[in-house]
Amino acid sequence: MVRINENYTKLQGAYLFSEIAKRRTQFALDNPGAQIISLGIGDVTQPLSQPVIEAMQEAVIEMGDAKSFKGYGPEQGYDFLREMIAKNDYHARGVRIDTDEIFISDGSKCDTGNFQEILHIDNVVAITDPVYPVYVDTNVMAGRTDEFDSSIGRYKGIQYLDCTEQSGFKPNLPQERVDVIYLCSPNNPTGIAFSHEELKTWVDYAKENKSLILFDAAYEAFIKESEIPHSIYEIEGAKEVAVEFRSFSKTAGFTGTRCAFVVVPKQLNAFDSKGNPYSLNAFWNRRHTTKFNGVSYVIQRAAAAVYTEEGRTQVNKTINYYMENAALIRTSLELLGFKVFGGVNAPYIWLKCPGNMGSWEFFNKLLNEAHLVTTPGVGFGNNGEGYVRLTAFGSRENTEKAMERLRKVGL
Ligand code: PLP
Repeated sequence: MVRINENYTKLQGAYLFSEIAKRRTQFALDNPGAQIISLGIGDVTQPLSQPVIEAMQEAVIEMGDAKSFKGYGPEQGYDFLREMIAKNDYHARGVRIDTDEIFISDGSKCDTGNFQEILHIDNVVAITDPVYPVYVDTNVMAGRTDEFDSSIGRYKGIQYLDCTEQSGFKPNLPQERVDVIYLCSPNNPTGIAFSHEELKTWVDYAKENKSLILFDAAYEAFIKESEIPHSIYEIEGAKEVAVEFRSFSKTAGFTGTRCAFVVVPKQLNAFDSKGNPYSLNAFWNRRHTTKFNGVSYVIQRAAAAVYTEEGRTQVNKTINYYMENAALIRTSLELLGFKVFGGVNAPYIWLKCPGNMGSWEFFNKLLNEAHLVTTPGVGFGNNGEGYVRLTAFGSRENTEKAMERLRKVGL
């Protein structure tokens, strides 16, 4: 008798975005002709930039010529891309990262989900609440938790780090010692980013406790305030305690094209039961080369074009476009008297529901009365209850229309 991984039975309901899609579809069926605007799912809308397209086209032509055709590439990624990343994302910020510390992949969703696999099942994991749901669910799937406790809306076995309005949506250090800490900055969904001092507190904690920080910087490119660190490695000593995840998805419009990377420094260790150190770089290399066969050459060439002068100019233009949307959403909502957070260093605006409304209640109200799709904050964790997330990834026209409609909704 084949048995299933029963940990999957602990998972809660449908994945957040499937539920949103279901409600949206039902609303569209019930209200034919309604012009629904989505500021919900965090997907980009602007096309790939011209330098990226041209690099992709050239690479396609190379693939059609026997002399330049490429079969399997290095699983860790081509050196041309790893070198570009090391130079532009790290050396330019005074951070020394070697190319063999960079692993190219097809997405940060897979990377942040997969990384826990090389860590012991008994590790105590701390996850901020609210946050990108993949961290929690993949630890549940792995069996690192007990059943979901519906009385508290949380899994036993995970240490949740509360991020509330009172704490500025930033977590305090854990009460009890933890082994693995997921941090996301700028944060999805709150849009809040850690300062240098705050990140240093976490790096110091990890050093003191021999813990590991899994640092998700998928929205690094949207940071506008100059004092906010773009990489955890800007903090001294972080290479001994942190893995960093980055993605071209939001930075350069690669959500449908797929390219990302993980940085695993060579001096980063995890330990066996006797306290002997093992290189996480070597372990991740072993895992990656065994289970992954590399991102396609064409896509890696496209990603490398992001770092050319013209590529950078174009990509920055698009990021600025989204961040202007973010400013528009922020100021419009503030003028309407809403309490809003984020939207300064991230393309997400975290909106407090008015009148003590719950997340789904406010989601339904906005869908019904403004034909506007948002993301209920509770989908990102208990502390998200009472909030919705708006994204700045829409077109300018739709963002303006959405704000206009909000002005007319009776709130
Ligand atoms: N990490 C965070 C915090 C995200 O919000 C997302 C996507 O929404 C991802 C990772 C996934 O990125 P990718 O498209 O590279 O899989």
